[in-house]
Amino acid sequence: MSFRGEQIVSRAIRTPEVLGCARCLRDDVVDKMRRVWAPGDGIALVDRLMHRARPMEADADGWEQVQNAARRFRAPLTAIFARIEDGTLRAGQHPSIEGYGGIFIATAEVERLFRHPQHVGLAPSAFGVGVKTKGAIQSLIDQGYMSVTASASKGIATLNMRGSAFGPAHLLRRTKVAVMSDSGLIDFAEAFWPADQHERGFQPEPGCSEPTFVGSAADIAFFASSFFNFAASALRKGGDSKATACFVRAPHDDGSMSSHVVPLCQPSVHVEAHHGYRVHLSHRAKSAIDSEIKSNAPTGSAKDETGGILLGEIDDALGIISIDAATGPPPDSKKSPELFECGIEGTHALCAFHAKESGNSTKFVGVWHTHPVSMPRPSMVDLRAMAQILHLQEKTPRHVVMLIVGHAATRPSWRFHLFRRNEFQVVTLAVEESVDE
Ligand SMILES: [Zn+2]
Repeated sequence: MSFRGEQIVSRAIRTPEVLGCARCLRDDVVDKMRRVWAPGDGIALVDRLMHRARPMEADADGWEQVQNAARRFRAPLTAIFARIEDGTLRAGQHPSIEGYGGIFIATAEVERLFRHPQHVGLAPSAFGVGVKTKGAIQSLIDQGYMSVTASASKGIATLNMRGSAFGPAHLLRRTKVAVMSDSGLIDFAEAFWPADQHERGFQPEPGCSEPTFVGSAADIAFFASSFFNFAASALRKGGDSKATACFVRAPHDDGSMSSHVVPLCQPSVHVEAHHGYRVHLSHRAKSAIDSEIKSNAPTGSAKDETGGILLGEIDDALGIISIDAATGPPPDSKKSPELFECGIEGTHALCAFHAKESGNSTKFVGVWHTHPVSMPRPSMVDLRAMAQILHLQEKTPRHVVMLIVGHAATRPSWRFHLFRRNEFQVVTLAVEESVDE
């Protein structure tokens, strides 16, 4: 408000020390300012509010006293009064409470009007997200993850919301995969997941007994508060992303400081048929398989089996199979209604490319193929192919995944099977058929 041509904050006028004669002060002040602190004005205000208030039931749900609502939602009283007076906030008159205490307002409307913090800053936003959204702060502490480089030049924080498919370790893996495929984050890839050791080694080796962090408490405070604000704003905004990673570069010698927020796509989750592993199938892999199945119909016959290879990582400790990418059939594959024989041409180079691009996180994990008109159950041919991969080649993997898309021509149903090398016994049969290890 302004007083005698000068902008002033209202708090100053409540305890004023204003010089002037009584007459000209009165001329200046009366009708120009609302003195809610004066008893007369207070009574007039209550009258105006009561005039707006509609009679209500004594114990109606969803209503509360003005003072309580103001405190709970950190809403300024003057703003609440203004909303009642301009009709945007409904007021009710309690049947048995007289005066100001009998004026109730609709909780849901107060929440809608005032829920978002009115001020920018750490404490109000923390208050807003922590108290209002049912333990969001707790989940931030439980599931948030922050790491900072030894020189405190870069930091990564991740936020995993309720309903996300990721556990902490897997969230970190997903962050790595996202960093590796983003050319704008090369410096983070080098700092957090280096291919080679850049720093000179020293004795004793870096470990818990040897401090390697050379930043200061101020650096940590910088990252902690940056990430806290990132998390608070992500929680406040909501949005579709259930998991998000935030990358922050600290101001350093060159003076640049920047941050990137990257949503981490949720995988579709399947349960593997034999061992109960959770399969996290990336959107990219799923659409590659879907489009190969679709394009198989016009180019060949919908009755022909098709397939390709699966790339990702198997984590036995977590019981999770991550499928990051899938390919269509290599050029030397053979398709027929009874059989898909996955070729090998170009697969070695392809696997090497993915392994390099992902910092060795996306590797060959198995194969996929369709059963156009039958169940997604491994046939004898399929089992023989698994035995072949697990036992009868030069470098055999410990386990391999086989995805079968059953009834692919009509109602595709996806089933993952994990086969371990020790689940196949090599039996030497007498006479014609003999298999050497
Ligand atoms: Zn099959």
